[in-house]
Order: sequence, then C-alpha cells, then structure tokens
Amino acid sequence: MPRNLVVLGSTGSIGQQTLDVAREMKEHVKVYGLAAGRNAGLLEQQVEEFRPAMVAVSNVAVDESHFPHSKLCRGEQGLIEMAANPDVHLVVVGTTGRVGLLPTLAALQAGKLVALANKETLVMAGSLIRNELEQGHGELVPIDSEHSAIWQCLQGEPSTSVEKLTLTASGGALRDVPKSDLVGISPTQALQHPTWSMGPKITIDSANLMNKGLEAIEAQWLFGVPLERIEIVLHPQSIVHSLVTFEDGSTKAQLGLPNMRLPIQYALSHPDRWSNTLSRLDFAEVGTLSFESIEMGRYPALEVALEAGRQGKTYPAVLSASDEVAVGAFLDGSIRFTQIPEILEATLEVHRPGSGDKLEDILEADLWARSTADRLISG
Ligand code: MG
Repeated sequence: MPRNLVVLGSTGSIGQQTLDVAREMKEHVKVYGLAAGRNAGLLEQQVEEFRPAMVAVSNVAVDESHFPHSKLCRGEQGLIEMAANPDVHLVVVGTTGRVGLLPTLAALQAGKLVALANKETLVMAGSLIRNELEQGHGELVPIDSEHSAIWQCLQGEPSTSVEKLTLTASGGALRDVPKSDLVGISPTQALQHPTWSMGPKITIDSANLMNKGLEAIEAQWLFGVPLERIEIVLHPQSIVHSLVTFEDGSTKAQLGLPNMRLPIQYALSHPDRWSNTLSRLDFAEVGTLSFESIEMGRYPALEVALEAGRQGKTYPAVLSASDEVAVGAFLDGSIRFTQIPEILEATLEVHRPGSGDKLEDILEADLWARSTADRLISG
C-alpha cells in the first residue's frame, strides 16, 4: 500500500520536485495533502492532478469553491493540522524560513516521518527538536543534499566512529567575482547559481556562504557532531555532496548529479532504494573533481553564522530570523549584498539570549530579531 504524503510548500522548488517523485512513485507514495503560500495558480493545478484529501493555504482570500474535493485549512494552524493528521505517514517540509518550525514539531509529536528541507527549522530549534526525537517522537530525515549525503555515508556505521564531517560548497553565484566587486552585486547576479536551481532565499544564502553556515548548524543537530568537527570545503562541480571521515582514517563520500530529486526520493524510500529514471553520473564526462579550502575573510556571513552556532542558545534563531529579513531587504533593493552579514552581526551583537530548549524563548527571539533587523535596515 502506498504511504500517505503531505507536502508543505508544494509550489516551491523542493515541493515541485517532491511531486515529481510522487508522480513517478505512485506505488510507494500517495499525495494526501498539499500546502502552499504564494502561487495559487500552481497550487490549483497540483490539486487538480493529485486530488489530495487536504489542502492548506496561507491566503485567506482563497475560498472552498476552488478545491471542491479537498478539506481546506488555513494559515499556520492549517499546516499544523495537516502535518499531524492521523492518516498521514510522511511529511515533506519544503517551506523556507520560520514557517516550517511549528508544523515540524507537530508532525514529530504525532509520530510522523518528517523529511526536512527547511534547514532554518533545525537552526532555530535544533535542541528542542532533538529532545522530541530522543523521547521517541517521530523520525527526522534530511533532504538537504549535503546532509542526505552524510546520512547515506553513515548507513551501517556505528555513530561513535565519526571523526569528522566535510560539507562541500559550490561557492555559489559569486564564486569568481573579485571581493572588491561584491559591494555592487545586484539581486539578479546573486540569483544565478552555477550548479543548483533553488528558491531565492537559499540562492542568496549560497552566494555569501551563509547557507553553508546554516548547514553546519543543521548537521550538528542531525548527526550529533559538534561544529569543531565539521569542516567546509569548496567543490565547484557539486558532484561530491559531502563526506564522512571515520576514526580509522577512512573517508566515505556520496556522489551524484546536482538534482534534488535524488535526496528527496531517498528521504522517502530509506532504508530501501527505488529504481528511477534520473540521469546517471558519467565519470568520464565529469572528468575532474576539485576541492579548495575556503578563503576566510571573503565570506563574513559564514563566519557570523558559525559564531552564532558556537554560542548556541537563541543566537542561531536570531541569525536565521535576521537573515530572512536581510535577504528580503537585499532582494527588494533596500540594502547592498555586502550589508547582509553586517545586519546579522549587528543584530546578534545586541541580543540577550534565552534558552534554546524552550519554544517560547525561540519564538520570542525570532520576533525580536525581525524587528531589530528591520530597524537596522530602515535606520
Ligand atoms: Mg544544501
């Protein structure tokens, strides 16, 4: 019997690719619920195709008549209701930013398998989520390609044997731009990712390596490895998705073409693998795989992110929230590209941290960071 799947953020990049997997894997998964925010037209097409039992919309103006065959629920409460529905087995969280947090917690508390693409959720509330998992509530698996790679490398290995995790970074759209030119970069330039096609927030985060800082924090919570034992290396081809070095000096890597459908599918199929029609890696065609160390000083956003990760408590929640605000401000032309890390640093500097284990503290830090970053941008 196919298992019931809900997709939060179904019209975004991860959501659409999850539905590509579902379309090809009908014997394994059935789309039970779809949730989307902005793109009402695409959501209607998806509902027409998959006929889900539930639809969640953030836009209150959408009325029931659009979805005559589905139960309609609304807003954050709608996402929570859908994620925790008793008939649901799998929840793909493909939203971006803070939106994924409460539905992820609700799905875990209801015992679901959560496949998480929304890294901000773990950055904000990693400690809280780990507590849920340690109490036996639900299961959390990564969709992020680096973390999927590490997870695949860890299969069959004792968790105590890990010496080091190595996250690979493509270097993003601005990898070859001289440092002195970064100040004048436009949103259009920063959105041209060389190897991955993704949503705007993560593409900007990739251009200044903020994304890699968020991923290091995400990896820390997913795999229980401290930040000091997580290294980042530039790998322009995006073929080696990440590596694990074990205590005997052996290193395992996971390789594949840069296509999110594979990590999405593995999150749904594990521990099994499903045969599919994705293009295969042609090693002779790839030719060279190269690796370089990160030039420190070029990526202040990465340094700010790692420092917030080391400080812990509610600092990572503040990092994540102020980054959402700063990236939004860059995309709408209010600040320069190089001001993004300055806003983050200035916000973190005046933060008075609360406990990273308490949801109230995390949500309060999130709101505080948004208003503080907004004030810094307009002031
Ligand atoms: Mg990634």
